[in-house]
Amino acid sequence: MNHFPVQRFPPGKLNLTTSEKKVVDKLIQAAEEVAEIYKLQENPRMPGANFYPHDATKEEILKESQKNPEILSPYTIIERKDNKLQAVPYHAKYKKQLEKIAKSIRAAAKLTGNKEFSSRLYLQADSLIQGKYEASDIYWLSMKPYKINFVIGPIERYDDKLFFTKCSYQSWIGIMDEEQTKEAIAFKDYIVSARRKVLAPSEKVEFLNKIQVRVDHTLIFSGLISRYMFTSSNLPNDVNLMEKHGSEIVIFKQSFDNKFKTQHLPIFKAVFEDKFQQGYSSSVLKTGSLRNTYLHEISHPLLRYRDAETRLKEYFPVFDEIAASVFGVRACGSLLLKNIISQKELESIIVMFIARAFAWWISYLKEPGVLHYAKGFAIALNYFLDNGAIRGSQGFSWPNFTKLFVSITELADALERILAVGTYEDAKQFVDEYASLEVFERFRGNLKKFT
Ligand SMILES: [Zn+2]
Repeated sequence: MNHFPVQRFPPGKLNLTTSEKKVVDKLIQAAEEVAEIYKLQENPRMPGANFYPHDATKEEILKESQKNPEILSPYTIIERKDNKLQAVPYHAKYKKQLEKIAKSIRAAAKLTGNKEFSSRLYLQADSLIQGKYEASDIYWLSMKPYKINFVIGPIERYDDKLFFTKCSYQSWIGIMDEEQTKEAIAFKDYIVSARRKVLAPSEKVEFLNKIQVRVDHTLIFSGLISRYMFTSSNLPNDVNLMEKHGSEIVIFKQSFDNKFKTQHLPIFKAVFEDKFQQGYSSSVLKTGSLRNTYLHEISHPLLRYRDAETRLKEYFPVFDEIAASVFGVRACGSLLLKNIISQKELESIIVMFIARAFAWWISYLKEPGVLHYAKGFAIALNYFLDNGAIRGSQGFSWPNFTKLFVSITELADALERILAVGTYEDAKQFVDEYASLEVFERFRGNLKKFT
């Protein structure tokens, strides 16, 4: 992990005018500059990265934070001065770097012919300098989707393994893939409107209208995201902002393509029965896998139950993640009824659901932090096996597609019930019954090259 935290992607055939290209060049410059800040923040050897003094204990930080809440702000660096912990705001700490970045962003804002995008860029530059991100986020969520997508700032908390509170700097630039975006929006609109019919009018659903989804051809990942190579994102992270102003789901096409080629497809070949495999071409599988990605993201906000986190405690992330995946696949049943997708396409979504389950298990073997994904997918696989909806002794296959789909529907209901009204005990029982990772272990031999 020592290489510089910037990942450039081949530009491919992009439909950009000369002036748009100039805008993008300035933004790439800003993105690259943000990697300098990330470099100062990251430290894989320390659970608190470089956000806290290396000699500070968790207890000491917690104790100090009671006197000074800024200690646990997502946007401060903690330093020890005169034997006391102090919180230095990011925008003061990194002032020099941020001024340079803001200059590049403002240059792009001046160049662009799109007025809305220009205002957005000026707000982004200001937000970095002032350390206040809300106005810029709100403007972005209210803006019409524009072909150039530029995200920059302290956003994700994954590097703070001590408190999961400090945000790391990152940036990405994407150019909208119009065809794929159109399909993702059609799926979203259909699923959201079907969902609205089953919700009671009293339930809070206004923000469902404000979910945006896009598939982007990514040009650059910088900072944290270049380390994690996410295939999708759903921002903002602030729940209150999201409820008021909606959210934007982005699928990162190249990052996804890469994961499909190096993981999803080879896993499919390793865990499914040979004869079964012949029914699915790699292109139909790729579409199936991409659809899993955005179905999962679209489903998340549809399954938000206010007190689920407090009720289910440490089991919450397990249910939150797997419910979104299963719900997304189940929702495709209605897309089949409406002839929006064929049965073969629905099957390939489910085939890839299973392959991706193994991809999470493999990630978990390398990064224990993603255990809740692996456990969630174990629940699904064990549930299907128990019901006889899939067979798994000689590689997976299913005897009967209808049976499998009924099983998916039942599981989606069971998971949602736990999120909606389940107790801690209900969640625990479900996990004890179904979440055994043994279901993955049996295939360890086939998956040797990954583990
Ligand atoms: Zn998720």
